[in-house]
Order: sequence, then structure tokens, then C-alpha cells
Amino acid sequence: MQTPQKIAVVGSGLVGTLLAIYLKKLGHTVHVYDRSPDIRNVEFSGRSINLVMSNRGWKTLEDIGLDDEIRSIGIPVDKRGIHLQDGSYITQNYGKEGEAIFSLSRGILNRKMIDLAEKSGVEFFFNQKIWDVTLSNATLHTGETERGEWTEIKFDKVFGADGAFSRIRHKMQRQSMFDYSQEFMKIGYKELHIPANPDGSHKIDKNSLHIWPRGEFMLMGLSNLDGSFTCTLFMPFKGENSFEQLQDEKSLVDFFATYFPDTAAVIPDLVEDFFKNPTSYLVKMKCYPWTYEDKVALIGDAAHAVVPFYGQGMNAGFEDITILSELISQYGDDWHTIFSEYQKSRKPNADAIAELAERNFNEMSAKTADENFLLQKKIEKWFSDKHPDKWMPLYSRVTFSLQPYAEALAIGEYQNEIMQKVLEMDNIAVIWDSKDVEDKILELLI
Ligand SMILES: Cc1cc2nc3c(=O)[nH]c(=O)nc-3n(C[C@H](O)[C@H](O)[C@H](O)COP(=O)(O)OP(=O)(O)OC[C@H]3O[C@@H](n4cnc5c(N)ncnc54)[C@H](O)[C@@H]3O)c2cc1C
Repeated sequence: MQTPQKIAVVGSGLVGTLLAIYLKKLGHTVHVYDRSPDIRNVEFSGRSINLVMSNRGWKTLEDIGLDDEIRSIGIPVDKRGIHLQDGSYITQNYGKEGEAIFSLSRGILNRKMIDLAEKSGVEFFFNQKIWDVTLSNATLHTGETERGEWTEIKFDKVFGADGAFSRIRHKMQRQSMFDYSQEFMKIGYKELHIPANPDGSHKIDKNSLHIWPRGEFMLMGLSNLDGSFTCTLFMPFKGENSFEQLQDEKSLVDFFATYFPDTAAVIPDLVEDFFKNPTSYLVKMKCYPWTYEDKVALIGDAAHAVVPFYGQGMNAGFEDITILSELISQYGDDWHTIFSEYQKSRKPNADAIAELAERNFNEMSAKTADENFLLQKKIEKWFSDKHPDKWMPLYSRVTFSLQPYAEALAIGEYQNEIMQKVLEMDNIAVIWDSKDVEDKILELLI
């Protein structure tokens, strides 16, 4: 047990709220500040933005007994549904029988978690902008405007869970030896919507993550509980087949008719959605250190913002909490060691998931339409079913296991080298599940 402290969490997003529940359960006084209004009182536009939860996220929820409650508001997704340009449709299981990621509405999830946090005794302060923090004594500075009068609120500790453009990190950046990099991607995204059928059922398979891979761009769709799908069009801002080219109704309708003809039947409000919804940016950010003495720590996107193509940003943020919690059990009141071990342990893994996430854009947008890649996945699945102790595909390591991301990345690269040699075997498309292939992989694994 730890000596109770007064702790501030800046940010009531998914990571900040879950961290607050953990800290409260340890007996601390926990105050959460957010510059935005209480999400429970904000009317969603009727459309939900969703994300997927996988094993790392579930583990953090399980440890605190919240997994069942959250699972009840999600939809299991056990495969990719790939819509090829020639009109054909194929599926590819994500993992073994029974393994699935879960599609969840971000808004519903966040509301639910704030409810649960409040029930456990966490206090929330909404519409409170944090402009600055004094690192040496964990004091927050809040006020109406950046240039107006500020109030100081002193804590024993401050956690910056204030997202990719963190104000807490901004202050840490002004120290010497603080590394920081930020990069906006050349690809942006726009949300579109597949409504439910009149009877509330889904128009396409709700248990698949739908992808329309088209090389430099792609459309994807994830199901919602109300029978609808949230679709996201990822494409470059400029150049051929880019947002810059889709400026009027005709170019948009022609573009969709050429590249996504099967969506005409399911996205009735394409033109309205496309021109009403914003084109959003994707940013990746790395920094180090993540902590200041035993006073201030960054967590979630504030410490490591990654691109969304592995569906791991929130999962990685939740895993930060698991690791922090394990270190708290190990080191008790020694917060210096807890913070220092936390950042040492998480940084290489955050860098690894950043790398994996970036690579996965190419996998989703191009390789899922590539015959060789589909064959590789088929061989990997077949071999791993036969020799589960010898082979776990990279996707499963990242999504269905708790293996540190850095290890998953390294082993994934090693396995990929083996698979490239296997794919060079004569007639591999025919003999892919033969004894020869099995022996070849076993030989290469030694
Ligand atoms: C298109 C897209 C799809 C994604 N899909 C997935 C997915 O499928 N699976 C997955 O795991 N991850 C996904 N992610 C990533 C995931 O959304 C983020 O990693 C996660 O939301 C980060 O949570 P957070 O609590 O750290 O930060 P945020 O959710 O950004 O929350 C930060 C909070 O801090 C508040 N705040 C900011 N500044 C201040 C301030 N100065 N004062 C007070 N409050 C402040 C904000 O109002 C906000 O409430 C996706 C991201 C995108 C963009």
C-alpha cells in the first residue's frame, strides 16, 4: 500500500480517466482536469467515432475488474473483410479461433469510464484549461485565458495525460537534454458513414474490419452497436488520388465509382458527409524523458503519439498504466524509482509500436490486395496452428499477446526474413501446406 497523496491527472481522455481509477483505488486523492466540457453532457452528432481494443487494453481493464462492463458495449471483430478493386471480397482471420479485437465507440467508452471513475471517488474539473505546470513542486496553473489571470493548484504529483499536444510536456520540453520530435503525416483522414438497415441490422458483416485497399489510399469500416459503420478514408493530402483533388461533387462521385463502386449501395450520404466532415491530420510524436523527478509524469499520447494503423494508440496508453501499476506494487512509496523504471521500460516499446504502426499503413492499404502477402499470411497461420510453440504471427504478438512491442518487432522481422525465403520455393502457391514447406521453416528456425 502507498502513503496517500494528492494527485492531479491532466486530461479526462481514455488514458487519463483509467489512470485516475487506478490511483484512486490505491487510496490517493485524485483530481482530473480537462479543458473540454464533460463529454457526458456533450451531444454526439449522432455518429460515433470508434476504435479497437485488443489484449493489452483488456489486461489493464481486467486488472481492475472493468473488462466485462466494457466488453458489453463492444462488437467482436475476428477478421479483415477485404474488398478488392475487381469487386471480389475475401476474408482473413486476425488470429486463432476465438481471438478477436473489439470495436468500441470512443465517446460511449469515455463516458462510461468517467462514470466509473466518479463512482470510485475521482473528482473531475471540466472546462479547466491547464496552461502551465511548475515541475519542481507539481503545481498546476489554470485560468480562463493564456494571457489572463491564473490560479495555482498544488499537488504531490501531476500526470500529464493531455494528449499529443500536451501542455505538461510543453513545459518539460524547455529543460535541457529533453528530446522531442513531431511529424505530421502526408496522409489525412475523413470519416464517412454506413447507416443501419431500417430494422437496425448491419448492412455488411459486423464482425469484420472492412478494408478497401487501393495502394496509396484506403477506406476502412468498423461496426457500431446501433447497426451503423464508421468508415475512414485515409489518403494523401496532395498529388494523384488525394484530398486536394476531391473538391467538388462530380470529382468525388467519379472517384468513388472508380475505386469503391460497391460502397454506392451502402454510403447514401457520401457527398454530404464528405464535404461536411473535416479532413483530419495524423501526427506522430516522440519525446524523452517522460518524467520529472518524482513529481511529474507523462502517459498515453502525451508521451508517445503514434499513427492509428495498428489500432494500438489507446492500447499502448493503457499498457503504460499496467506497467506503472506493477512498479507501484514493487516499489511502494519510492516514486523516484517507480518513475525512472516506468520510462526506461516503456520508451523502447513506445518507439517499437510507433514503427509497427507506420509500417502497417502499407500492409493495410497495399499488401492486403497482394497475392504473395495473402499467401504468406496463409502459410504463417497454417504453420503456427501446427507449431504454436514455434511461431506466432507478428499481428498476433502485437494484438493478442502481452509480449513487449520491442520484442514483437524484432521477432517479427526475423520471421519475415524466413517467410521471404519460403516464398521463393518453387511452386509455393501449390505446395504451401506441404511437408517440404514445414521442414523448410523448421530448418530456417534453427
Ligand atoms: C483516426 C484514429 C483512429 C484510432 N484508432 C485507434 C484504435 O483503433 N485503437 C487504439 O488503441 N487507438 C486508436 N487511436 C489512438 C487513440 O485514439 C489514442 O491513442 C488515445 O485516444 C489517447 O488517449 P489519451 O487519453 O492519451 O489522449 P486524448 O484522448 O487525446 O485525451 C487528452 C485529453 O486531455 C485534454 N487536454 C488537452 N490539453 C489540455 C489542457 N491544456 N488542459 C486540460 N485538459 C487538456 C483533452 O481535452 C482530452 O480530453 C486512434 C487515433 C486516431 C486519430
